[in-house]
Amino acid sequence: DRPRYLMGVGKPDDIVGAVKRGVDMMDCVLPSRSGRTGQAWTRRGQVNIKNARHQDDPRPLDENCTCPACRNYSRAYLHHVFRAQEMISGMLLTWHNLHYYQELMQGMRDAITGGRFDAFEAQFHAQRAEGDIEPL
Ligand SMILES: [Zn+2]
Repeated sequence: DRPRYLMGVGKPDDIVGAVKRGVDMMDCVLPSRSGRTGQAWTRRGQVNIKNARHQDDPRPLDENCTCPACRNYSRAYLHHVFRAQEMISGMLLTWHNLHYYQELMQGMRDAITGGRFDAFEAQFHAQRAEGDIEPL
């Protein structure tokens, strides 16, 4: 009958696990801290934009993501601005990460309301198990 709060969590896997165990609210710096350090969270797991494999990749971080960073910028651009230490790098990756986290939370809320959280969780883990898209 009262909301349950979990401080400082966290990674998407941990959030899904916490919600499964009844946690209603949490907070964490991870989406923005990760964004500032070149890490993006996607449906298919974590992407390190610093890696050379993204240097010439014209594809977005996540082709199914509707955030402005994914709709307007390539992995190659995000890689370049991170390497050039441009502030826009952390801003764009944080924008994407916050969008991803918001969609993850909305997906869990919808799944709970629809009585299909177990199916949501299975799909969440199956997508992450696929890993990042193949390099070009
Ligand atoms: Zn995105």
